[in-house]
Amino acid sequence: MNYEQFIPQIGAASPAQFGVFEKSINTVGGVTVFMAKDGDETVIISTGDIGFAGESITASGVSYVKAPLNHENACVLRRLFPFTAPVRVLGHERSFGVGDRLGIATPGHIRVFEDFDAYPVLAQQSMRELTLTNRTYEDVVDSASFFVYRDGFKKGFGADGDHLKTAKDVEYALSLGFTMITLDCSDHIKNGVTDEMCADFVIPSEFSQRYLGKTFDIGEGVTLTFNETELKKILMIYGGAIDFAHEIYSAFFASGKYDADFEISIDETATPTTPLQHFFVASELTRCGVKCATVAPRFCGEFQKGVDYIGDLKQFEEEMAVHSTIARHFGYKLSIHSGSDKFSTFPIIGEKNRGVFHVKTAGTNWLEAMRVVAVADPSLYRQIHKYALTAFAEASTYYHVTTDLNKIPDIDKMSDSELPELFTQNDPRQLIHITYGLILNKKTPDGKFEFKDRLYKLWREKEDLYSDALYSHIGRHLTELGVARV
Ligand code: ZN
Repeated sequence: MNYEQFIPQIGAASPAQFGVFEKSINTVGGVTVFMAKDGDETVIISTGDIGFAGESITASGVSYVKAPLNHENACVLRRLFPFTAPVRVLGHERSFGVGDRLGIATPGHIRVFEDFDAYPVLAQQSMRELTLTNRTYEDVVDSASFFVYRDGFKKGFGADGDHLKTAKDVEYALSLGFTMITLDCSDHIKNGVTDEMCADFVIPSEFSQRYLGKTFDIGEGVTLTFNETELKKILMIYGGAIDFAHEIYSAFFASGKYDADFEISIDETATPTTPLQHFFVASELTRCGVKCATVAPRFCGEFQKGVDYIGDLKQFEEEMAVHSTIARHFGYKLSIHSGSDKFSTFPIIGEKNRGVFHVKTAGTNWLEAMRVVAVADPSLYRQIHKYALTAFAEASTYYHVTTDLNKIPDIDKMSDSELPELFTQNDPRQLIHITYGLILNKKTPDGKFEFKDRLYKLWREKEDLYSDALYSHIGRHLTELGVARV
């Protein structure tokens, strides 16, 4: 049976047997709208003309419009059903970014956030991720909107223009309705500043007046003081970043023209952000009138891609306590980037921030998709794994990882059923993690995608397996962060 037979009997007990997504059935202005399977595709069906661009069909005495999932129809959907449009979520106590690089992870993510007391940013990509996946921001938001509609997720979700570095990119994302901008200030942060370099630096008098010899009591027993060398160093490192953040805020946020949150990221630096540096940046931004919802410092230790925290957990805990006090003092939340799989830090993050935080993940969702491949199509997985080994050197120029290829087991000596175990080991995880762009873009000599099309076909067939994997894996992130089930 197909959706056509469903139309005359809308309200039938089991829409699923007609290929209709049950949670997608809505009525607006007397017209029923739903999503259904049409062969391999998913389409929007409306029983009257309410704006969807598609084919008008009359069959067996019923008339309807069959509309494809394209950008034009995503815009219509968001207009008719506001819950499918992104909203600001950083104002909630707990928010969580799940980058869906592939445009297939949202069904699993929806299940997680239906069950946990946190708000998701379902659409979240950086420019680098867009380039590596050949996607556009339109596509990133549309994909989230379609799944949100299909699965009837009405809690609200955010869209994050992640790690944007230019006014042009910020404007592009905001104009598409992104509800959060993460401004990456790293190009304006001066790395490698030494005490020696500071020797000749003269502190402008306004800064010495504001900071030198002063003690800042920010409550909760935390006091901060600046000596001359520290202040010089901070000004040299962060002066440009503060000006840049101020400039972008004034251009796009101050007027309130866009309904979006502002996050400042200073995490992509050579050295961790000390609490004193964090305080200075926040203090100066506040003085300039910049209101941010979240700030992402770089924490001590290493937040490498797709593996647990590397570093001194005790120091992390002590510094997190101060960073979170600073955030509370200025009235924003901490944003923890590269949050994928940092399980040993999660209880600390949850506790020190008193259950108020934003955490971002991305790569781990891709890794779960590849774990599905290892389970469901071992032979395809083997081909990709071998290609990744050859592509690793190139990929590692984009990412900081300490992967040791020698520690990756020889997959020729592993049985099919052992392959998923690779995803419990750091070195294979990072191998697959950082080569995602190269894997997706690998072409055959005749110009076709070597893996991409086969991967998407498999993921479409195994949607439930992927959804289950994400539910348990992202659910584990939230549980460790201390997020309650609702
Ligand atoms: Zn970051």
